[in-house]
Amino acid sequence: MIPVPSKALPKAAAQRLKQYQASVDTRPNYSARVEAAKSLFSTHNRSTNAAFKSVRKTLQEMCFGVGRCMYCEDAPADEVEHFRPKDLYPEAVFAWENYLYACGPCNGPKNNRFSVISRGLIVDVTRRHGDSVRPPKKGKPALINPRAENPLNYFMLDLANTFEFVNISPSGSVDHDRAKYTLEVLRLNEREFLKTVRRASFSWYRALLRDYDDQISAGNAPKAKEIKDAICAAPQATVWAEMKRQRHAYDELKTLFDRAPDALAWPFPVE
Ligand SMILES: [Zn+2]
Repeated sequence: MIPVPSKALPKAAAQRLKQYQASVDTRPNYSARVEAAKSLFSTHNRSTNAAFKSVRKTLQEMCFGVGRCMYCEDAPADEVEHFRPKDLYPEAVFAWENYLYACGPCNGPKNNRFSVISRGLIVDVTRRHGDSVRPPKKGKPALINPRAENPLNYFMLDLANTFEFVNISPSGSVDHDRAKYTLEVLRLNEREFLKTVRRASFSWYRALLRDYDDQISAGNAPKAKEIKDAICAAPQATVWAEMKRQRHAYDELKTLFDRAPDALAWPFPVE
């Protein structure tokens, strides 16, 4: 998971979202706002709704590869995901900055699961069946939001062996707990197929980069451009980002990027 570039929503859609939000915010109490958030979101979040067409199009443009899920980066993103669940935060149900684009298998299990940081601890504020409908405890989200933070400041992909994310925040710190929580909620290390596809992507990216270097040396610019486009359209953008970040730890990567330093800026500059 890498930072998602921010993009402004076209004006007409932004205006419409504000109106939708106002019709939630003007309900008389919290539980009425929760009800309105859920029902109005399912009413408006349809392919026939112009504002949501625009929301989906803009979110799609913010995804890496060819519209891949912002969490797992593997499956096509097709669900407007609320970073702060609408069940808990009706005041953010139509907030553009609260939206991510995700696949069903990432969005489903996350669902209404949410925790906040309170006095340095992660406190689960998920509302369970039968709980009374009350506002959640206040606090910053425990989940790392790729629209607001760089997840790679908290964890690192192990390119040498497991292809799991490794927590790099100091043990015992809130950051460490947040990284652990995020990896668990999004099941980024749990799903075996994700590790397999990350490993395979590492091979594809290296092969493509070798080929790119060869085509540049041979003076074949059109072919080199084709390879660059293939790299930028590939899934598993974190693998590519980590190849750049960790290149000094791997002789092969260092050599490849030394031969093609321009690749460090695709599709976004290296940190
Ligand atoms: Zn996903």
